[in-house]
Amino acid sequence: MRRIDMIILHCSATKEGQHFTAKDIDYWHRLRGYTMIGYHFVVLLDGRVEEGRPLTMVGAHTYGHNTHSIGVCYIGGLDIDGNAKDTRTVPQRQALEKLIADLQQRFPNATVHKHNEFANKDCPSF
Ligand SMILES: [Zn+2]
Repeated sequence: MRRIDMIILHCSATKEGQHFTAKDIDYWHRLRGYTMIGYHFVVLLDGRVEEGRPLTMVGAHTYGHNTHSIGVCYIGGLDIDGNAKDTRTVPQRQALEKLIADLQQRFPNATVHKHNEFANKDCPSF
């Protein structure tokens, strides 16, 4: 396993209430020239957690911080007009909390961050 000391949170930048899955993001990222989905985990509107890129592989989600991090993305992050909004559903919040706790158990040195700490972006909209 590569060294992992950060968990970085993202949103899919899709509109509130719209259901997408890791498979959709995989398709979008391949269109952008990535080998596959750039995130390691995707949290769906109903709280299901899907796996994206294997943890053993370096992700493609946060410029300059991919080699030593895990990328987690929840579906949403925009209101119906396309403005940044924390659209996390209750199941998504619970699932994120559990996923982060599980990952921190596995990688005790990992600290939790938001994409907007490293880029001039709204992501993850909270
Ligand atoms: Zn992001």
